[in-house]
Amino acid sequence: MIEKTAAELSKALSGREISSVELTQAFLDRIRKQNTMLNAYITVCEDSALAQAKAADKRRAEGDSSPLLGIPIAHKDIFCTKEVTTTCGSKMLHNFIAPYNATVVENCINEGAVTLGKTNMDEFAMGSSNETSFYGPVRNPWDINRVPGGSSGGSATAVAADLCAIATGSDTGGSIRQPAAFCGITGFKPSYGRVSRWGMIAFASSLDQAGSLCKSAEDAALMTNVMAGLDKKDSTSIDKPVENYTASLNDSLSGLKIGIPRQHFAEGLSTEIEKGIREALKEYEKLGASITEVDLPNNHLSVSAYYVIAPAEASANLSRYDGVRYGYRCENPMDLEDMYKRSRSEGFGDEVKRRILVGTYALSAGYYDAYYRKAQKIRRLIKNDFIEAFKEVDVIIGPTSPNTAFELGAKSDPISMYLEDIYTIAVNLSGLPGISIPAGLANGLPFGMHIIGKDFDEAKILNIAHQFQLRTNWHLKKPNLEQAN
Ligand code: GLN
Repeated sequence: MIEKTAAELSKALSGREISSVELTQAFLDRIRKQNTMLNAYITVCEDSALAQAKAADKRRAEGDSSPLLGIPIAHKDIFCTKEVTTTCGSKMLHNFIAPYNATVVENCINEGAVTLGKTNMDEFAMGSSNETSFYGPVRNPWDINRVPGGSSGGSATAVAADLCAIATGSDTGGSIRQPAAFCGITGFKPSYGRVSRWGMIAFASSLDQAGSLCKSAEDAALMTNVMAGLDKKDSTSIDKPVENYTASLNDSLSGLKIGIPRQHFAEGLSTEIEKGIREALKEYEKLGASITEVDLPNNHLSVSAYYVIAPAEASANLSRYDGVRYGYRCENPMDLEDMYKRSRSEGFGDEVKRRILVGTYALSAGYYDAYYRKAQKIRRLIKNDFIEAFKEVDVIIGPTSPNTAFELGAKSDPISMYLEDIYTIAVNLSGLPGISIPAGLANGLPFGMHIIGKDFDEAKILNIAHQFQLRTNWHLKKPNLEQAN
């Protein structure tokens, strides 16, 4: 049962084939068996999960049939969860028990979803491999010597290894889509502003967006129905009616215009992945879609612009961790200055410190124009590229990542790690929605197809992803964990 999609589980629950308590227990058993090796969860909420499951069963018995009622899910440890430790993968927050729920968490609770626990992640969501977590690396269930991608690697592994039905994630430069690609699952980042960021610990506020990691595009649609919406507590959340994302999943794709960006099929892309994506695109042609090449001429600047803008925003956001109000405080400080200094140098890991240094430098008086302002100008050029491309096509499709999952420890220099997001970062810089869906295997490892939509076109890209999954079975492929063990 635990391998099923949330949509299937929802049917089983409403058909009384299983109760939420039984289902939750099955997931908890699976977590107990596999989590020591996979390290996907930082915190497991066994007692409260069972209590929530019991309440969900009661609601169902009383006639409530909300789609995710009683479905066991997990939250990335970046989402504040009331009375639960919320670490953001950092020693800095190892003792932080959130006093409130993030809006995303609250929405899921109101729906009646069961919270199994909090998933592991790169520290403060900075990374592409989940190796920067204070709680140790997460392992990829397809090959435990490989990374699951990052920063939502715990969520990706948890979904791929059936340690939950759905997991939340956050995506600042690719952190939902890249791990989804590496773990053979569906990862959806809605447009900037579509989902509230309130209570989602801030990394780079103009780029961060919450989304979901799922077993199918249909599940992503179900989850987006619950997550999306205006939130008065987040001034960047959009006042635009939430669509019913499941209603349009079966719309016809006849006449759809797909753009293939030349720059996403260039040097650096694995030949097997390129072959696989081109093969996958044929499915759309069979459905009546047409395919043309488009240009995103400034894409090669996206990683550089991002690594000025994101650290700049991070350096400001992370200044709140000072050892005073909450989080880690060093022992026996000599004075106030010593407390600030040592709390931050002992509480943050190397990658986070690197970003704070780069960000502070880029924002400093003499360098602001040379770096930060320049990066913002490039960001505008990148957005303009999409605006131009979308005059010709309805959606843009390419690979999610240039390669499949790499081995733990394989990328020791930061630059090669940063280049992991070469196809995903421009989407965040432009605020667009993007989804990664499984599109094949290369040497036994999954890779993803990346579908990018126009602003707030989430319904369309979920529809396009779902139609592919109706006709192919890549999303049904499972890692053989017993063998991996
Ligand atoms: N890998 C990118 C980084 O390290 C993106 C991370 C993210 O999307 N949270 O910043």
